[in-house]
Amino acid sequence: MNVKPIRPLIDNYGRRIRKLRVSLLDACNFRCVYCMPLNPVFMDSSRWLRPDEIEKVCSTLVDFGLEQIRLTGGEPTLRDDFRDIVLRLSTLSLDKLGLTTNGWNLTKELDFLNDSNCKHINISLDSLTKEIFNRITKRDYLDKVLDSILSAKRLGFHVKINTVLMRGINDHEIFDFIKFSAEHDVEVRFLELMSIGQVSGSKDKLFVPASEVIQMISSREELTGEQSKCDSTSFNFKTSSGASIGFIASETLPFCHNCSRWRLSADGFLRVCLMSEKGIYIRDTVPEDYKLILNELLKMKPYRKIERVEQDMYKIGG
Ligand code: SAM
Ligand code: SF4
Repeated sequence: MNVKPIRPLIDNYGRRIRKLRVSLLDACNFRCVYCMPLNPVFMDSSRWLRPDEIEKVCSTLVDFGLEQIRLTGGEPTLRDDFRDIVLRLSTLSLDKLGLTTNGWNLTKELDFLNDSNCKHINISLDSLTKEIFNRITKRDYLDKVLDSILSAKRLGFHVKINTVLMRGINDHEIFDFIKFSAEHDVEVRFLELMSIGQVSGSKDKLFVPASEVIQMISSREELTGEQSKCDSTSFNFKTSSGASIGFIASETLPFCHNCSRWRLSADGFLRVCLMSEKGIYIRDTVPEDYKLILNELLKMKPYRKIERVEQDMYKIGG
């Protein structure tokens, strides 16, 4: 359990910042169509925050009331010092330390993670069929990702699958995912495609609203709603067939009014909102300046949803 913060981060709308997404790098070995171009230009690794710098920023934010950290990217497990970073963050007084990954390299890390405090793993998986998986990610790694999911489950991790639904590409697999969830006791969260980067101006023909998916599932299954925290990004159901499903409806049901999250980029830009490019570089911030800078950041966080952002997700840290 977290200790009482010395100065909680609460903005003028009463939103308390208690979650941080930490992007370890922008590079990735997949090329998901909605996330990055085929030939992306990645940040030079010399710009990445070092493990001690990441630890310093995170531990300072814990003093200000941060409760949860999730490592992301790009693909966070690709960093050579991934374990050093996890070990350092494992020592912080957090309620939750999590990881969002494409699952490609995960089996190798599971024993290590099991010995750390990082027990919450979200794995992205947009298709259960090879051909479609390959078409979306441009890589032939479905078996590796499935192996990661099942191995992580076996070891007792809290595993969630993130599935971005796209019309005409993978939306016919919704019931396959439900079956997979029930069979393997793993939660599947259906994400609305967001107007970010690659798809910011062209997502409409691919977009599937969560309401449509819920209606479709309800025609075959009974859905029982589950309780979730007010700043949760997803709303969740149990299905009559035993699946656990969730929806992240960032486009049609934005949760900005309850958002409790900031993001730290791989090179130390503390960003207040996924959809806004506002933020401050804090790499070289000295302890006595933190209060001032964090107060500035609190003022920058938008209250209403911003329609689109040109920057790609892999650069922001998803
Ligand atoms: N590489 C890791 C992975 O894929 O899980 C972590 C980074 S990735 C950017 C984090 C999440 O962002 C993934 O679940 C991905 O599907 C999601 N994502 C990326 N671009 C998106 C978009 N335009 N709309 C919705 N979700 C998106
Ligand atoms: Fe890589 Fe994740 Fe983006 Fe896919 S969604 S390209 S796995 S960073």
